[in-house]
Amino acid sequence: MTTDVIPLGTASALPTGDRHLSAMAVQRKGRLYLFDCGEGTQYRLLHAGLNRSRIDAIFVTHLHGDHCYGLPGLLSTLALQQRSDPVTLVAPKGIQAMLRVLPGDAPDDLPYPLRIREIGEGFQRETVYRTEELTVVGRPLEHRTFAMGFRLEERTRPGRFHPETARALGVPEGPAFGRLKAGESVTTKDGTTVQPHQVLGPPRPGISVAYVTDTRPCDGGRVLADDVDLLYHDATFADALHDRAVETGHSTAREAAEVAHDADAHRLLLGHISARYDDPAPLETEATAVFPESSVAEELRRYTLDPRSKEPESE
Ligand SMILES: [Zn+2]
Ligand SMILES: [Zn+2]
Repeated sequence: MTTDVIPLGTASALPTGDRHLSAMAVQRKGRLYLFDCGEGTQYRLLHAGLNRSRIDAIFVTHLHGDHCYGLPGLLSTLALQQRSDPVTLVAPKGIQAMLRVLPGDAPDDLPYPLRIREIGEGFQRETVYRTEELTVVGRPLEHRTFAMGFRLEERTRPGRFHPETARALGVPEGPAFGRLKAGESVTTKDGTTVQPHQVLGPPRPGISVAYVTDTRPCDGGRVLADDVDLLYHDATFADALHDRAVETGHSTAREAAEVAHDADAHRLLLGHISARYDDPAPLETEATAVFPESSVAEELRRYTLDPRSKEPESE
């Protein structure tokens, strides 16, 4: 069972013919998690062949229009589809007031529960979303306005069960196997206690994805990217325009690569590319010089992450 990351929009504030406004989908077990929702995101979901009705949660980094003006349209479409399942919306404080003034999009007018979680300035770290299988944590970034980055992380699963070892230890097949798999010890007929670690392989870590834009290189971004399988990072400018990046609260491709390198990320996707770069290849060249596993994020491409690739060789 893999998790796919699909960049939907990788442009900075000005969309171009090739690049669209910020949004990225994570698809896992048939459900969708959306990071940012720039104008036109619902069309990008269509182009990517992703079913809007599968969205469980939307995470918005900040309230600049290029990251959230797609929300009203998307929420209205979900209403027209007669959705009844809840949608979680995690966003900076102010999103509620913004939606409330839009006819039909006010949370109380929608036919499905819109569970809004507003995050205010001053927070340091928060688990903003949690299911039985994954969590999403938010951290503050450094932009011109309050912005946060996110990290989606699958929970670690117990190690693989070795039935032949259990049988050899005298454990009878049946409910006792289930208890061991669930991490409980069992006592056999002859009074021996068998501990789960005797019959289970090492715990199996899940995959992780970090979404870090719009921001200067910062501690929040580095912590979110720590040992992450895939990092999507702001790379608005080439390093020749470093001053412009500082001025506007963005990062250069080289800086994004430094964050990935410092954080021991496994792979970097460069995003939020300025419209001035018709050809973003120089950004990629600049980043790979610092962090070889860098590439410019390709819109609508599926980046597949397989948790099995993280299991120890002995498994
Ligand atoms: Zn932006
Ligand atoms: Zn911004």
